[in-house]
Amino acid sequence: MEEFPLQLQATATAAAAVGYVALLILTWRMRGLLGLVERLFAAYLLVSAVWVVTWGLGNVWDWLQPWVVETGEAIAIYTSALLPVALIMLTMHFLGERGLPPLPVLIGTGLWLAIIILGERGVMAGEAVLDPLRVVVWALLVVGAISLTVVRYGRLRRPLHRNRVLYWLVALLLVAVGEGMHYVPYESVAIWGVPVRLLGVSLMTYAVVTYSLPDIKSVVRRSLLRIIMLLTTTVLYMIAIIVAVLGYQLVRRTSLDSMQQQWIIAAGVLIIPLVLALLHSPVRQAVSNVAEQLLFGPGYDASRALRDYSQSISNILHIERLATVAIESIGTALDVERGALLLITERDDGGANVRVVPGMGEIPMITASFNPGSPVLQALRDTGRPLTQYDIDMQPEFRAMDPSERQWQWALDMEVYVPIHAKRTLIGALALGAKGSGEPYQAQDLDVLNTLAGQTAVALENARLFEDLRILNLEIGQLNEELTSAYRRLQKLDKAKTDFLSITSHELRTPLTQIRGNADILVDMLSGVDNKQAAYLVKVANSVSKATDRLESIYSAMLDVSEIGVDALKLHKVEIRPETILQLAMEPWKSALQERRQTLTFHNIEELPPIEADQRRMVQAFSNLINNAIKFTPDAGHIDVWGRLVRGAGEPLVEIVVADTGVGIAPEDQDMIFERFYRVGRADLHSTGNTKFKGAGPGLGLAIAKGVIEGHDGRIWVESEGYDEERCPGSRFHVLLPIRSRADREMDASDQSKQTRPVAV
Ligand code: ADP
Repeated sequence: MEEFPLQLQATATAAAAVGYVALLILTWRMRGLLGLVERLFAAYLLVSAVWVVTWGLGNVWDWLQPWVVETGEAIAIYTSALLPVALIMLTMHFLGERGLPPLPVLIGTGLWLAIIILGERGVMAGEAVLDPLRVVVWALLVVGAISLTVVRYGRLRRPLHRNRVLYWLVALLLVAVGEGMHYVPYESVAIWGVPVRLLGVSLMTYAVVTYSLPDIKSVVRRSLLRIIMLLTTTVLYMIAIIVAVLGYQLVRRTSLDSMQQQWIIAAGVLIIPLVLALLHSPVRQAVSNVAEQLLFGPGYDASRALRDYSQSISNILHIERLATVAIESIGTALDVERGALLLITERDDGGANVRVVPGMGEIPMITASFNPGSPVLQALRDTGRPLTQYDIDMQPEFRAMDPSERQWQWALDMEVYVPIHAKRTLIGALALGAKGSGEPYQAQDLDVLNTLAGQTAVALENARLFEDLRILNLEIGQLNEELTSAYRRLQKLDKAKTDFLSITSHELRTPLTQIRGNADILVDMLSGVDNKQAAYLVKVANSVSKATDRLESIYSAMLDVSEIGVDALKLHKVEIRPETILQLAMEPWKSALQERRQTLTFHNIEELPPIEADQRRMVQAFSNLINNAIKFTPDAGHIDVWGRLVRGAGEPLVEIVVADTGVGIAPEDQDMIFERFYRVGRADLHSTGNTKFKGAGPGLGLAIAKGVIEGHDGRIWVESEGYDEERCPGSRFHVLLPIRSRADREMDASDQSKQTRPVAV
């Protein structure tokens, strides 16, 4: 009988040692030994294995050499001294505490080591004192580790982080109980400490090697539920049995004959199981409903939540409103009190910008920027699964995260991020805070959130498009305002220019008239005198008179253009043939044409019907066109003037085209040349004289022509392949003019509408 516990102890310690080594291999395979926690833990496992083997040594292997046993016992004492010290350090690192252990721990450790060493050396003799002292110091250290964990648990708010610490706490308690049992003097108790400690260390290993630990609270709740259901069934069966027994006794005591009693008992045998079968499942159902309600709180109907959610967010176009409605609906379904919508815009460099749109609760609206290699961005983009803050804080792949990103997340203080993808692009995320109940998000919650995020995608895309449109509209509105004010400024400048033109031309008129008058008087006075000096003076006076002519034409052009500029062109319309207009327009240029050896030919002009026009102005307009054609066509070139009647849908129109074989006009200048003072190319390179090749003018001729033609409700435009002095592609100035004036046409129209029926002639 004495042999049995020893064999048991030998087996138990050997098995435990194998167990610790197996846990060591597991840790090494799953986590590698890179982190400090992992290395400390590996050392802890190794010391545990050595300790458990040497602890059993003295009692079990007494056939070994005495020195082996002695050495083993010494090792057992040293390792047992190391274990609680390693445990407290491990706990600190597991909890993420940096720096030195607190003072009581340091003192305890010092004391502990002193006791061991002094005891071993025989300085402190007497096991009666030494052993209890060792237990006390050991207990101090272990309680230190446990209280550190308890304090941390109390400080943490995040449920998953708390769960992890709770896990560690349970493991620590098991280790403490297991080690404590080793100190119990009864070997039959001490031996049970071996598996208990191994269990505790196994739990520790689990906490070190995996991050997704089962939620202890819900494991406990589920176990409780199971126990309650088991008890329910037991109670039901017990009641049935009691009823059957009592019923049997009652029947036996009655004065009925045995045949009747047999019948009643047979009926009972049938009825009691029947009632039991009938009651069993409804009772269980009712108990389970109540128990679930008590243990897990009120659940939610996922499909209803989904339906309500999609109904409430569809048709929302404002991002802020979308965030509020979406987060509030989720909040109601999942008992969440804080949340925000994150708008994520991926950048070309692979990073992304994040804007926080608050949905519910106090949310700091700090924008963030994810680096191209950001692990959080990658996880949201690639996995398409909700990402918890716990994952971010615990998983090794997030360790390389940028500190600014981490700070942003801490400030945001969310529990879970659910990515929103549209056409495989990450466009946003639902960020949700902790649950009101303090419970972690369960797998079912995350599934529902994922589906909700999918439903948010379309609404979010629409809202983002709408916002872009709104911003664009704002920008357009702003541009419009700027444009309007620029236009007003231009109008003012234009008015100033017109005023300047009008004033200058009026001011020029008086001195010019005087010069011309005096030059004429001089010519008249000298024309009778016949000497050489007088002839020279006449020549001078004539040249003054010619220069005055030129100046006069310029100031009258300035005056004309200033009138056109303020819409004050007064037209005296008469019926006139286009042929007459063109003949009169060509008249002043006959000698110039001859001089430049150019030909001017009219085609089809005589067939054009008379039009209503201001003769002087119309002649002026065509004269300007012919003048330009002469100026910009090289010597010996051709100018052709074509006429045709255009009969379109409305009133017939007269079209006159002045075509030359000149240098042509570049497309970009074709609109601009009709502006006042606009001249193509550099003004200083033009030659002077209004009929010379490329002769300079004030840049008013076409502006006047346009003003006159538009004053007659006509249109003028130019067609040319481009500017080329070598090839001379030529230009064609088109003029379209109505035959009758607008006033006439309107009069006609009102006459016709007054007639109720055609008048017979
Ligand atoms: P100006 O002739 O006094 O310079 P215009 O208003 O008549 O002013 O013409 C403006 C500009 O248009 C001219 O300077 C010239 O560069 C260009 N232009 C006008 N008519 C022609 C033409 N027939 N061929 C080529 N260029 C022309």
